[in-house]
Amino acid sequence: MELELQSLEREARQLLETLSDSHGLEEFRIRYLGRKGQFSTILRKLGTVSEEDRPRLGLLANSLKENIERLFTERLTEIQSSSGANEKSAISLDLTLPGRIMETGRLHPVTQIMQEVCAIFENLGFSVAEGPDVEQDYYNFEALNIPAHHPARDMHDTFYVSDSILLRTHTSPMQARIMETRQPPLRVIAPGKVYRCDSDITHTPMFHQVEGFLVDKHVSFADLKGVLTVFTQKMFEQELPLRFRPSFFPFTEPSAEVDIACVICGGSGCRVCKKSGWLEILGSGMIDPEVFRMVGYDPEVYSGFAFGLGIERIAMLKYGIDDIRLYYENDQRFLSQF
Ligand SMILES: [Zn+2]
Repeated sequence: MELELQSLEREARQLLETLSDSHGLEEFRIRYLGRKGQFSTILRKLGTVSEEDRPRLGLLANSLKENIERLFTERLTEIQSSSGANEKSAISLDLTLPGRIMETGRLHPVTQIMQEVCAIFENLGFSVAEGPDVEQDYYNFEALNIPAHHPARDMHDTFYVSDSILLRTHTSPMQARIMETRQPPLRVIAPGKVYRCDSDITHTPMFHQVEGFLVDKHVSFADLKGVLTVFTQKMFEQELPLRFRPSFFPFTEPSAEVDIACVICGGSGCRVCKKSGWLEILGSGMIDPEVFRMVGYDPEVYSGFAFGLGIERIAMLKYGIDDIRLYYENDQRFLSQF
């Protein structure tokens, strides 16, 4: 048995030196060192030798096996470190693991509605203009007939970068920016982010607006009504009655809040419309002559209308969402519905 052990050890040692990949090493491990390997087989036979030889042979068998185990580990480390990344990943690759599902990405509901709104107005001949989020006080307020200390500024509490630079509170500054550089006729929409110090179930500190305006000769309130009627019909895919309520904006005169018949109950009254049958969707009006004067247009020659709508609000009405904060919680369960 002693000879048998020594020749087995020699055989294993020689074979080990010829192995060069992890596959061969694994076969080696099973053949010599595994539970049913050759060393184990010999160790099991120890029961048959005489009691006086048993301790010596047991000791020898174990030390030879340990020697081979040590050489095996050394060889394994050598092969792993010398082989490339491919070999390494092949070792860690388990083909029986279930696959990872790659989910298809999609656009955020706010982006979807924004694109839909822009597409509708582009079909009506409006061009798209984007302006800066960080805006000058002049364009955000002064040029829109909201001088310093005007009470309307209270509704526009925002984030100031300095005394004269702020995060825009609406997309309306684009009216002045465009009119300063171009001559009528103009048909423009300005989509983008706006900011206000506000946070509750219907307000977030950042939200999205689309400003739209049209300037030409002989533009009337009927044109405004026509454009908005087409817009709401396309947006909500049904013919919804519109209602104009007198309102006040410093940069339009006259001004009107626009309501549509409730998309949930059709006007009979429900929780969403607070039993009124109407939903407020946007603000609008005829551009104030003072705004034209500031950009150098003659208000006796030109007239125009402007409107501004909140994208989150439109999406809430369209999809029946009752908490605006859901848009910004990044919850896949919510977002994957759109
Ligand atoms: Zn309703």
